[in-house]
Amino acid sequence: MTHFDTIVIGGGPAGMMATISSSFYGKNTLLLEKNRKLGKKLAGTGGGRCNVTNNGTLDELLEGIPGNGRFLYSVFSQFDNHDIIRFFEENGCALKVEDHGRMFPVTDKSKTIIDTLEKKIHELGGQIKTQFEVVSVKKIDNLFHVKSADQKLTCDQLIVTTGGKSYPSTGSTGFGHDIARHFKLAVTELEAAESPLLTNFPHKVLQGISLDDVTLSYNKHIITHDLLFTHFGLSGPAALRMSSFVKGGELLHLDFIPQTSLEELHRFFQENREKSVKNTLKKLVPERVADFLSHGYADKIKQLSHNDLDELNQKLKAFHIPVTGKMSLAKSFVTKGGVDLKEINPKTLESKKVSGLHFAGEVLDINAHTGGFNITSALCSGWVAGSLHY
Ligand SMILES: Cc1cc2nc3c(=O)[nH]c(=O)nc-3n(C[C@H](O)[C@H](O)[C@H](O)COP(=O)(O)OP(=O)(O)OC[C@H]3O[C@@H](n4cnc5c(N)ncnc54)[C@H](O)[C@@H]3O)c2cc1C
Repeated sequence: MTHFDTIVIGGGPAGMMATISSSFYGKNTLLLEKNRKLGKKLAGTGGGRCNVTNNGTLDELLEGIPGNGRFLYSVFSQFDNHDIIRFFEENGCALKVEDHGRMFPVTDKSKTIIDTLEKKIHELGGQIKTQFEVVSVKKIDNLFHVKSADQKLTCDQLIVTTGGKSYPSTGSTGFGHDIARHFKLAVTELEAAESPLLTNFPHKVLQGISLDDVTLSYNKHIITHDLLFTHFGLSGPAALRMSSFVKGGELLHLDFIPQTSLEELHRFFQENREKSVKNTLKKLVPERVADFLSHGYADKIKQLSHNDLDELNQKLKAFHIPVTGKMSLAKSFVTKGGVDLKEINPKTLESKKVSGLHFAGEVLDINAHTGGFNITSALCSGWVAGSLHY
């Protein structure tokens, strides 16, 4: 069979969910994926555990989607993060909540999430073709013609869920933007978002250390979240979020102990006067950070001069980190920009110009913080695009 009611291009979270809803609404639906398996990028999220959604309120959800989250009001009124949670629970995939509302499968394995989505597609009669790379799409009369190098298919409704342009090794190489351009739809400029930061901070010493809930600030931008020191600089949610506000050349301030005020810190040092600097710092920060910060000072707290103490306070509460740049789009977690939302009906995610052509997920000009917000946007928009209001 070469004709389908609906063809979905791209088997990430948006495409899998679009296939599920389209099949659920009784459409003969085919999902095309160029990789050997579905959900390659999804599999790598949450450190391989799949950060499938976030259990926040609608306001928290919109805050977690700084790139045009408001466009998703109508989508979330039809299918939101709580529907995602219900969907997985009802389909035998129990989820658990971790810090900052991040949700994962209780198995701690991405495969459980991908298997659940894939099983549901089969259960609803949807079809999947992997290792099918779409190379061209045309609309002739009322039919879409979808071609790979050696096969031709047709459909009445086409849903494009090919993702952004970050991590192209996972399959998302921006093909959906080419489809949009082919149909003369505007595509906004593509940029790196949620990018690890390059710094000339002595990161080798601290490489691999992860800090919980520290505060990174630059001008009025203050972000409290987890931070990771890497071989090139900074990663983890705090750095990824800060990447929206810096380019390179800025000086960041890192507060290692945001829960402790300067006054409390002064008192703490007084109470520990007789103790060694290193052991005292170990009570505040991880051991390797304490080693690093105490380097070059006298042994005991009581031996420190006023200047030394001031300097130590500053290092703990506002450590200077110069940013030299950020990772490229290909090495960033998320793509900012995509199919221009002015082209898209927010209720149906159908193109305003080309009837039957829908877009969902990261191919759209929507970008969110890591923490489950991008995946929520992909799953919810996928469901709505697949609901095909016709
Ligand atoms: C390392 C990493 C960690 C991340 N962590 C998080 C996180 O913790 N929380 C969060 O919310 N988000 C996270 N993200 C972002 C999140 O994974 C993406 O936003 C999400 O996967 C986008 O879903 P999508 O379905 O729109 O696109 P994708 O997941 O990119 O899927 C698109 C699919 O389309 C297929 N495709 C492309 N072109 C074609 C073609 N021509 N023919 C056939 N198939 C095609 C691709 O192979 C791919 O499988 C992370 C991203 C990365 C890279």
